Formats: sequence, C-alpha cells, structure tokens
Amino acid sequence: MKIADRLKNFEGYGCGPREEGIHLDKNETPFGLPNDIKDDIFEELRETQLNRYPPLIPETLEKKIADYVGCSTEKISVGNGSDALLPLLFELFDADQVVLNPTTFSMYSFYAKRKGLEINEIPLDENFVIPSYLDVLEKRSIICICSPNNPTGNRQPRDQIIEALESENIVILDEAYVEFSRESNIDLIEKYDNLIVLRTLSKAFGLAGLRIGYCVGSVEMMEYLNKIRSPFSQDILSIKIAERLFEYTEMIENNVKKIVDERDRIFKRFKDHAYPSQSNFILIDLDAYEYLRDRGIHVRKMGGRLEGMIRVTVGKEEENDELISELERFIEGSKR
Ligand SMILES: *Cc1c(COP(=O)(O)O)cnc(C)c1O
Repeated sequence: MKIADRLKNFEGYGCGPREEGIHLDKNETPFGLPNDIKDDIFEELRETQLNRYPPLIPETLEKKIADYVGCSTEKISVGNGSDALLPLLFELFDADQVVLNPTTFSMYSFYAKRKGLEINEIPLDENFVIPSYLDVLEKRSIICICSPNNPTGNRQPRDQIIEALESENIVILDEAYVEFSRESNIDLIEKYDNLIVLRTLSKAFGLAGLRIGYCVGSVEMMEYLNKIRSPFSQDILSIKIAERLFEYTEMIENNVKKIVDERDRIFKRFKDHAYPSQSNFILIDLDAYEYLRDRGIHVRKMGGRLEGMIRVTVGKEEENDELISELERFIEGSKR
C-alpha cells in the first residue's frame, strides 16, 4: 500500500520559528506578565499535582469568567484556545453549511473543511460590513460572524447581527477583540438561544501562550458541548494561571488603554492608507511587507481581496515608533 494515497490533503498552517526583530504579525499583546506577578503565580503552581488529570470542567476558572462576563457559570465553556472550540461547535449542530464572510479569520474555513462541511462564502461589502443573510439562507446554517473582524478591524452592526439571529440559524459570534472595542453583543445570549459568543484570553489578557478560550451560550448548548469534549484536553497549569489572572483585571484594563491609544496614534499617522480599527491591529493599504521584513519588522501580509495590504499589530510605544518611521520612509520612497 502506498501510504501517500491514503493521506487526506489539507492546506495546513506553517508556523516557523520566531525570527529576530519586532513582531507585529500575530495580534498578540506586547506586554508580558510582570515578574513579581509571575513569581507569585509560579510559587502557587508548585502545589499542583502534575500526576493527576485535570478536572473535566474547570469550575473555578469558569466561575471567574462568568463573573467577568456577567452571566451564570452554566453558560460558560472553556476550551484549549478559542480556536479549538470551533471544531467542537461545528460538530455540535446538525447543519448543511457554514456561512463565512471573507475576508475574515481563516480558522473558520480551516475547521469547516476538516469537518467536511459545505462552506458558503458571502463576502463582506465594500465597507467590510456583513451582508444581509435573510435572502440567502434556505439551508440549515452555522453563520460565523467576527466582530471586531480580523483582519479588517471593524465592528459589525448590531442590528445586522440580530437579523442573522432572527433567521433562526446558529450564529457563532467571535468577540476575540472585544476588549479593544468596548462594545459587546454578549447580552443577546439572554434573548437568543441560537447564539454562541466566542472569546479568548489570548488577546487583551495577553495569554496567547497558555491556550485558553471560552464560549458563552445557552445552558442547554453548553451541556451538550461538555458531552462531546475530551476529558483530557485541558492543561492544568494553564487553567491555574488563567484563574489567577482575573485578580489583575485592572492591570489588563490599563494595558488595553495603552494599546488603544497607540492604535489611534498609528492610525492618525497613516489616515490616508489605514482602515479605522476597533481592535489591537490595523489594516493598512501599503504593500510594505517585504520592506518592513528586511528592516526587522514582522507584519502580516494580506492576500486575496486585500492583496497588497498589511495587517499591523499594535506593539509597545517604542516598537510602534520604529514601525511609523519605517512606514513613513516607505511612503517617501514610493513617491520618488
Ligand atoms: C486570535 C483570534 C482568536 C483567538 O484564538 P485562540 O485560539 O483563543 O488563541 C479567535 N478569533 C479570532 C478572530 C482571532 O483573531
């Protein structure tokens, strides 16, 4: 048997080793945890029994998340990064298709394809706003809406999210960047039992390395979700660290403020090329990926409909200073 004939071919993701330089390509927070907080948390981790499996449901963490979100614990489900919740959610519902709005977060189509689901792509309009779904949905659908949207940075209008919910399809609303936009639609959970809101500790909370995300939805949905999750998927150290982070929400708030100020500073400098953003990154219509890379600044190169643009994560002030001066030089150079 030739094994190559039996291997399913998926377009995967390359994630090479980190190169030297300034990393503004993955929408991470530039601020690490202060050393005194780290020491304090690590001291506590000593007590953790690593020979034991973690609990199926990380109840303490879910309680803290529920308090933060302002809902009951039964409506929260934690996952191994919010992107690892996507395949579970795609398995959870009987559906004929997944509706996506390019250009958006690529992990939706990655997992939908892996699950063998049909994908119906309805592009965002010229202002990157989601379409009206009502006249195109004759099939039982899972609609993925990303707000603020990655990579365009804009928030989606609430009345259009409601319209999607009124179509009585399943709506996964990804609010990975909500802390930078300060306007959530999570309250709609109380009214619509077809809504799941996806959140993460990877962005504003600055814990991308821990792989902790969560979803919020009806008690019934979360009960079913817990039935299909592996009891062994969560990692006990990550759970413990995440629990402790909720003691430092004030620090996190401050970091978010700094990032929002810096975002607005970068946007103002490149108003003629940049799209307004409600997140911790900015889409800029400058073909400067290689130029910046050669100068040690790593940003995200866009493709498809956004070909020739870059997505720039907001970094620390000094990193942004470098980005700004290099981009200004790039613009000067392309005028000549
Ligand atoms: C970064 C990001 C996530 C978060 O993924 P994690 O797996 O929780 O790190 C989710 N959705 C979008 C749109 C993102 O950009």
